[in-house]
Amino acid sequence: MSAARPIRDVATELVRSLQRAGHEAFFVGGCVRDQLLGLEPAEYDIATDADPDRIQELFPGSHMVGASFGVVLVRRHGHTIEVATFRSEGAYSDHRRPDTVMFCDRSGDVRRRDFTINGIFHDPVAGTDYDQFDGRADLERGVLRAIGDPVERFEEDHLRMLRAVRFAARFGFEIEPDTAEAIRRQSGDLAGVSRERVGGEIRRMASEGDWRAAVELMRSLRLEPAVLGGASSSEGWMHCEHLEANAARDLDRHPAALVAWLLDRGDIGPEDVDTVRLDEVGDRLVSSNQERNAVRAIVDGLVRARGWSGMTVAAMKRLASGPHFSWATLLLEATDADLAGRIRTDVEELAASGLQPTPLIGGHSLIRAGMRPGPRFAELLDAIYDAQLEGRISTPEEALELAHAMTRGSDSAKKHDS
Ligand code: ATP
Ligand code: MG
Repeated sequence: MSAARPIRDVATELVRSLQRAGHEAFFVGGCVRDQLLGLEPAEYDIATDADPDRIQELFPGSHMVGASFGVVLVRRHGHTIEVATFRSEGAYSDHRRPDTVMFCDRSGDVRRRDFTINGIFHDPVAGTDYDQFDGRADLERGVLRAIGDPVERFEEDHLRMLRAVRFAARFGFEIEPDTAEAIRRQSGDLAGVSRERVGGEIRRMASEGDWRAAVELMRSLRLEPAVLGGASSSEGWMHCEHLEANAARDLDRHPAALVAWLLDRGDIGPEDVDTVRLDEVGDRLVSSNQERNAVRAIVDGLVRARGWSGMTVAAMKRLASGPHFSWATLLLEATDADLAGRIRTDVEELAASGLQPTPLIGGHSLIRAGMRPGPRFAELLDAIYDAQLEGRISTPEEALELAHAMTRGSDSAKKHDS
């Protein structure tokens, strides 16, 4: 359902209602930052001094979010907007979530936020900003800086170290030296963060930011081992760089980005498929089955593509019609542009006669033709499909004829054996 009213107008209306009811209310976080950067904010968050009961009273039908105390979701005109009571956070003894949350004033709420660029409060009604930590100046200079003492901030929540990388790589920002140094010193602590949260950050980095920059930052800030395990044996960036230059930032590129990273680290060789290592990385990042399959298919495609010149037409077509083969070719191009180019040209040519045509016959046709179903059926159908892919047969009749010839051939071979 397409919403009739722009989300910004709807969010502004909520701020206005809160203010009319005597409260302070502001846009906060990503929406303020993105707007200042000239980007379209994806979501709007509002912070207010109204407590959750009051928010729900003012906006009937809204409800509290279970996980994050004090946050109310308000749905209006097809949009969902988060309205949160100003709050400060107590100690983070598990380094993931604050033990306690206390309602406080605006200034206390800013202090719990991670980076200056995420700590700007904007009043859309009055058109004024409340920018206690000079986030606007950092936005203009392109600097990512922790709010307050960076060492403490990363001690409270280790995930902020990866968030720093994600934002810096997304906006092409420098990480301010003290903030970077604090990350370097505590980088090992990232190992204590839940794998889901780490995996989620990596996924977002790969899809919304400069992947080459993200990987380079993770390496220079010594975060790489805690994310992927093992040790990097290489200093190159070829695959990540090539991916960044040639693939639009998109959720689809996440599996290819992972493969590029593993190749650049020297973590998986270009020639072999180390499935154990791939599974381990999948576990570490809590990848979905779909992601794991994509990663395996890309690595597998990459390995096979190196043998392209020696392949039969049928093998080429089978390989090229795989859903992830274009990613494999893209990554191959980083180190062997000639071969990748040849493959592209060949695939275009092969596509003219169909990379993945509908099979001329299936198992039922074989049964109708009097053959007995059995374990050899699949092999037989594969061989017939190969003949079709290679253009040796082009009608169901020819396919059946070939099936008969092949079964006769193997029957007579059997007779010879006995
Ligand atoms: P994005 O566009 O990636 O959603 P965002 O800034 O909106 O960026 P969110 O994760 O949606 O990020 O969080 C909203 C705001 O909450 C942030 O801008 C920041 O002020 C604060 N915040 C979120 N996560 C943390 C954290 N781990 N530590 C401190 N502050 C945080
Ligand atoms: Mg957000």
